[in-house]
Amino acid sequence: MKHTCSTLVLHCMDFRFIADIDMFLESLELKGDHDVVSIAGAAKNIADPYDEHDTELVYRQIEISKKLHGMTQVILMNHMDCGAYGGSKAFTSKDEERARQLKDMDHAASHIVKRIEGVTVVKVLARIDDVGKVDFEKIA
Ligand SMILES: [Zn+2]
Repeated sequence: MKHTCSTLVLHCMDFRFIADIDMFLESLELKGDHDVVSIAGAAKNIADPYDEHDTELVYRQIEISKKLHGMTQVILMNHMDCGAYGGSKAFTSKDEERARQLKDMDHAASHIVKRIEGVTVVKVLARIDDVGKVDFEKIA
């Protein structure tokens, strides 16, 4: 069995998204071809960390994935209504919340490509509606 994978997915630990993330990755034909780092707030651990050790933990996982598995693509996935940000209620509007998520993902993506040579980053924002339906938006 091969010991390489193309992608590392960095997403929040939030249980509400996990099953849908798996289906999303399957739709991208990444099933069985990705490592996972699941940590509250995802990009926030680089852009606005609770603690600098959290940032180093995330970088180290990405570096290990690259070194051991030859991973070259990071899917960086944040989500709306994230507890690490205080949930949607911490923002005055959905637009403000979305802007913050995009800003943190931009920040984290630019630092990941600077720090870890040879990887590209794809940004995805996940949303969950009132009945628990999840959708995914790829951010250019
Ligand atoms: Zn979250």
